[in-house]
Amino acid sequence: GQCVLVCPTGALGERDETDRALDMMYDPELVTVVQFAPAVRVGFGEEFGLPPGTNVEGQIITALRRLGADIVLDTNFGADLVIMEEGTELLHRLAHRKRPTFSSCCPAWINFAERHYPDILPLLSSTKSPQQCVGTLAKTYLPERMGIDPKRIRVISIMPCTAKKDEIARRQLIHDGVPEVDVVLTTREFARLLRREGIDLKTLEPSAFDNPYMSEYTGAGAIFGTTGGVMEAAVRTMYYIVNGRELETVELQQLRGFEGVRTATVDLGGAVGEVKVAMCHGLKPTRQIVETVRAGTADFDFIEVMACPGGCVDGGGSLRSKKQYLPHALKRRETLFGIDHKRAVRQSHNNRQVQALYRDFLGGPNSEKAHDLLHTWYTDRRIEMTQTVREIWADIKMTG
Ligand code: SF4
Repeated sequence: GQCVLVCPTGALGERDETDRALDMMYDPELVTVVQFAPAVRVGFGEEFGLPPGTNVEGQIITALRRLGADIVLDTNFGADLVIMEEGTELLHRLAHRKRPTFSSCCPAWINFAERHYPDILPLLSSTKSPQQCVGTLAKTYLPERMGIDPKRIRVISIMPCTAKKDEIARRQLIHDGVPEVDVVLTTREFARLLRREGIDLKTLEPSAFDNPYMSEYTGAGAIFGTTGGVMEAAVRTMYYIVNGRELETVELQQLRGFEGVRTATVDLGGAVGEVKVAMCHGLKPTRQIVETVRAGTADFDFIEVMACPGGCVDGGGSLRSKKQYLPHALKRRETLFGIDHKRAVRQSHNNRQVQALYRDFLGGPNSEKAHDLLHTWYTDRRIEMTQTVREIWADIKMTG
């Protein structure tokens, strides 16, 4: 029989890369930049016996500095940036009556679409994920601002996600042999690394981000880690772009349910008016919604997809227990909503560091430079579903 080597979600299990990450952090010739995802700060404390949903952002920053990270950035900054790019792209597509647009920040979803439904690839947003946006800017914008030789920079991401390891190896995201992100550690691996180095997260004093270019984030960036969060963040910014003023109620309760597929109508005002949106999480609900789009029976403008049930708060790289799944995921989610609620700035377009990035470097959302650096493309990979191990090896040998 045929042996299908490639896992449909790209989550082929973990290659442990803690050694590689440590070697980079110890190497005095290198400048190591570490970023961590929105969901990591609310899922990581459990690894050290803290109650589910505890926000350990500050302790993670302290731990990274102790390990030897030179610059600590926040993937939340990248999430705010993604909203600027994706929101602008979406409004542009709506103006040209192109609908629906699918979100593109979950690499397991991208793998799934490329391998099972390549006909819908033109409907995917071309905006890269927050991890890749941070990675690419950490090797262009950041060294330019900070006067560092970009060749010395290595980027390490801590992610709740095994598919993020796959993502950094995509050929579209490697330029002349230089990847945008060098190493991904899952939250589990990161916990292992801390234990090996004798660091107990529970005993660490929290510290704050201090990078003046890429570490600020808004409430909108924070909620990226849960199902519906991308949609809510996007609506806040699109409303502003369309109307030139802020949405009065930023907490969009109608987007916050937990069902596998949720739909809502949101009034963006101005020339755009009402838009129909859908959010799905988990592969079965995703398949369901994609089938309706392909059958022509779907009536949506924007569809957010997260491959993991619950979104990244319960990603495949985080501590998971089947019995505990829902209570833990909901606690983590509550904390993310709490971070957003307490944040002074809650819309991505009001992130001052994002504003400075556009002013000083990119020009504007969806500018030519923004397109070069922050957008990508997708390819039909159906063949991988039927390739045998021998064929895959032959391919690898041929492409060197
Ligand atoms: Fe990764 Fe899951 Fe989040 Fe997708 S939903 S980015 S697979 S953790």
